[in-house]
Amino acid sequence: MKAAILYSEKMKEYDLGHVLTGERYENFMRLFRDILGGNPDFEIIEPSNATDAELKLVHTEDYIRRVDRCESKDPHDTPLSPGLVRAAKLLAGAGKLAGELIVSGRFDKAFVIGGGVQHARRDHEKGFGIFSDVGLCAENLMLNHGINRILILDVDAHASDGIYHIFCQEPRVLHISIHQNPRTLYPGKGFVDEIGEGDGAGYSVNIPLPPWTSDTAYQYVLRSIFVPLAKEFKPEIIMMIDGSDTHFTDRITQMGLTLKGIKVIGNIVKETAEELCEGKVIDFVGSGYSYDSRVVALGWLASLAGVTGVKIELEEPVPVPDELKKDLRLKETEEIVEFAKIYLGKYWECLVA
Ligand SMILES: [Zn+2]
Repeated sequence: MKAAILYSEKMKEYDLGHVLTGERYENFMRLFRDILGGNPDFEIIEPSNATDAELKLVHTEDYIRRVDRCESKDPHDTPLSPGLVRAAKLLAGAGKLAGELIVSGRFDKAFVIGGGVQHARRDHEKGFGIFSDVGLCAENLMLNHGINRILILDVDAHASDGIYHIFCQEPRVLHISIHQNPRTLYPGKGFVDEIGEGDGAGYSVNIPLPPWTSDTAYQYVLRSIFVPLAKEFKPEIIMMIDGSDTHFTDRITQMGLTLKGIKVIGNIVKETAEELCEGKVIDFVGSGYSYDSRVVALGWLASLAGVTGVKIELEEPVPVPDELKKDLRLKETEEIVEFAKIYLGKYWECLVA
């Protein structure tokens, strides 16, 4: 195993002055260096900004020009400033580089620190996201590196509606988003009947889970949706979007994962990638708005430990509520999985209800 950590100090300009603060990246890197800094299996690599030509693989020219002028169409949602635009281009550049490092064979794991832009569209900014790092990574691999089957697994608490819009007609990309029920959380999209369209019908999978879904129920979804779909789709590479906003201490979401639960999800992805695609995983790890800032960095480290299998001690800084230890929401989760099979069984043998 050899893992690239894509990080630049300039990432701190990705700061919206509210829960999405610029110091989250430095905090994580401090923890990473403390615990894994001397481990030769990890290499920190500094990305550079995506160029206009690269951004155009995903975004429209008019939109790129408007962002350069910092003219936000929704300044309350995603206010644009020169620093933020620079950081957004850096993140997109990191996404592109992560894909290239994996196909070069130099690394089998890559981590885009602060990555995982989920809501940005091809032609507008949305939900703190400006340029799609995930979209650029995938488009570049398909157009320039001969990759034809990419699985994007999003386990962040929010549905990735932007990625859905970018790839909902693309059968070369299987996009699975597991998230808090959008009736209870932004972006209000990501219901089971959103399965893609045209040639992409069946290649978008949305699994909305009730608030306070805990570790066991998440693992149930991974084992009954992600693993069988991956085996049938046979991806050449797996991209994952996560972070720590699924942790039970998060301020803006209401999910019930522990650090151990975040790590186990990463580990299921690792095992699946080893079986299907020589262990190739790109992890866009960037969410997390816990009231305890230690949790944000620890959640990212938990994901990294799961995806790489590196042995580290992970101590929960906040006691886990007793309620979460009781397979919370497992029954409802089983019902949602059965419901999703009604929509998807037509496209996938493994999901025939
Ligand atoms: Zn999120």
